Amino acid sequence: MNGRLPPLFISHGSPTVLFDDDAAHRFLFGLAVDLPKPKAILVVSAHWETSIPTVSLAENPETIHDFGGFARELYDVHYPAPGAPALGERAGILLEGAGFAVARDPNRGLDHGAWVPLKLIYPDADIPVTQLSIQTRLGPQHHLALGQALAPLRDEGVLIVASGAATHNLQAVFDARFRLDAPVPDWVAAFAAWLAKTVEGGDVDALLDYRARAPFAIENHPTEDHILPLFVALGAARGVSGETVKAKRIHASFSFGALAMDVYRFE
Ligand code: ZN
Repeated sequence: MNGRLPPLFISHGSPTVLFDDDAAHRFLFGLAVDLPKPKAILVVSAHWETSIPTVSLAENPETIHDFGGFARELYDVHYPAPGAPALGERAGILLEGAGFAVARDPNRGLDHGAWVPLKLIYPDADIPVTQLSIQTRLGPQHHLALGQALAPLRDEGVLIVASGAATHNLQAVFDARFRLDAPVPDWVAAFAAWLAKTVEGGDVDALLDYRARAPFAIENHPTEDHILPLFVALGAARGVSGETVKAKRIHASFSFGALAMDVYRFE
């Protein structure tokens, strides 16, 4: 049996996905059935940005409610999974081996890009979790290289969860009055479709140049933070030797009109 775990790219959407009765909620809730059970999880979340790659060594990471303006019930949710300091250290060593300067944070908890999807996928919170940060100003190539350095983890029982968004124009979400079933703008659907075609086609060059080549790239990602985790998952699938990447969009739906909730699995 192949025990290799496929890196995932998950669009985490709004934290309300925990309670929203929609396709994305139902998909994430059932996702673990199709995966070997990981020994530990490394989350690369759009919501932890630092100047250099940073790993968390927290023993018992706190649940960080890094959002505002939502219903009380969301602030009452906690995700008490054990930390994974040994995995954090292992990831740091792999990155240093690839030439990156790496920082270690002894206390960093889980932001909502990590714990919201994990609460749905692994509600028992019994798998150790740690996080790795992103560096938005360093762009797609840097994040691809981070992922390539982390590729050995796939064979060590580690599930790499890259958590961001396939489309992420929050102004459009607010303009649609935060309605879960708001109509999907054409420019959002066009980008999500391009991304699916290009990821599934394994066209890494086109993906790295998505801001120039994809339709409405800037409109869908005014800043790059939510798309960059995708490159980490892509890099982890590709490895340093540049293996051919087989990727599949295993979920596609839209929430609040402008948020594609697409999930990709990389083999
Ligand atoms: Zn987010």
